[in-house]
Amino acid sequence: MLRDNKLYVSYGEFPKEIIKDMLTEIKPFANLGLDKRIALKPNLVLPKISESGATTSPELVSGIIEHFQERGFKNLAIMESSWLGARTEESFDECGFTKLSRKYNVPLIDLEKDRIKKVTVEKQKIDVAESILEVEKLINIPVLKAHCQTQVTCSLKNLKGCIPDKEKRNFHTKGLDRSIAILNKVVPTDLVIVDGFIGDLTFEEGGNPVNMGRIIMGYDRVLVDSYCSHLLGYTSEDLPEHIIKASKLNLGDLYDNHKVFEKNAEDKKVIQSDELPMEFLEKYLKSYKACSPCEATVVHALMRLRDEGLLERLEKPILLGQGYQHLKEFYGIGIGKCASRASKHLPGCPPRTDLVVRYLKDQIENKN
Ligand code: SF4
Repeated sequence: MLRDNKLYVSYGEFPKEIIKDMLTEIKPFANLGLDKRIALKPNLVLPKISESGATTSPELVSGIIEHFQERGFKNLAIMESSWLGARTEESFDECGFTKLSRKYNVPLIDLEKDRIKKVTVEKQKIDVAESILEVEKLINIPVLKAHCQTQVTCSLKNLKGCIPDKEKRNFHTKGLDRSIAILNKVVPTDLVIVDGFIGDLTFEEGGNPVNMGRIIMGYDRVLVDSYCSHLLGYTSEDLPEHIIKASKLNLGDLYDNHKVFEKNAEDKKVIQSDELPMEFLEKYLKSYKACSPCEATVVHALMRLRDEGLLERLEKPILLGQGYQHLKEFYGIGIGKCASRASKHLPGCPPRTDLVVRYLKDQIENKN
């Protein structure tokens, strides 16, 4: 029987083979009744294939399904709700999960359309999709990625796909780090399988794929996420805040040189990525309680302008986020409906990247 604080990492190129090998060895849920509901929660944040670095590999999930079906488990389901502004059904199609569902006869549950359960925990009210609360076991299958607000996104943040869009917005006004930690108190994760094949160490929505060639697995989500943060260069002193808050809620242990059981270590790759563009973000972007898709849109637009050599001609700051909703008129370029009282403003919720690029170019041409 395994203790909860073990970490398993296996390296290589072929997700399905590697995960089947790991699961065969580790034998999770060996005593679980074969008719019990097991939810697979990938990260399908938006309709982009896994090779972009944004979403969970369908190959990896097919290996997990085969493992459990070969042992007689009959009640698997894939559950997800994409981020604000994206249609989950489209993500299922585009990311290869509709095909997967047909092939293995595993239902897809769009949690955005699910019944809602209102839960109060740690004095915070949270709306959660009911189906995820009704499962016997939850296998959390995030992608190892960076995030513009939480630094790292892995299993703890992946559960944001278990709440409705309205609540996703609320998380940014209530405090994203604390809300993620609390959500993890409401929705337990029984096993984490991190897709560390192709991630994105710059943005959660992909576009800068980094081949890391590994699966990281463990029962303790705080341990897994803090270990993954170390892989991305964070130390015990500067770990992402949502992970620290989750550990303070006793949801797991922070990684502290725990033993890591490695397989196929000869295939281990060095994780390399371009530098995070934080410096230029701070200079041009004044984000205040912005939802992730909104912030990501603007960051992408800024990178486009940078690549085209236009960014330095932008003279006014860009403002976005729910924090600007109740402020009186303010100076700058407001992006998104929340910043409509800025002296210049582009509507949208979230706004489209191409429209933001065009709007900012217009502002630059008109000298802001
Ligand atoms: S405009 Fe942006 S920050 Fe405001 S609610 Fe919409 S997505 Fe969130």
